[in-house]
Amino acid sequence: MTAKERCTSCNATLAVEGSTGFPCPVCANTIYRCYRCREQSIAYTCPKCGFQGP
Ligand SMILES: [Zn+2]
Ligand SMILES: [Zn+2]
Repeated sequence: MTAKERCTSCNATLAVEGSTGFPCPVCANTIYRCYRCREQSIAYTCPKCGFQGP
C-alpha cells in the first residue's frame, strides 16, 4: 500500500487515520474514502467502472 491513495469522492490525499478502502462490488477495483466522506456518507464513484454507491 502506498501513501498516495486519494479519496474517490473528494480527491483528498488520505490521512492514515480514519480513511478506508474497500473493493468495488462490480469490478473489485479498490475504492478509497477519507474519514470526512465516510462520516457524511458521501456517494462514491468507482474510477474504473463508474459504479456509484452510498
Ligand atoms: Zn473524501
Ligand atoms: Zn468498479
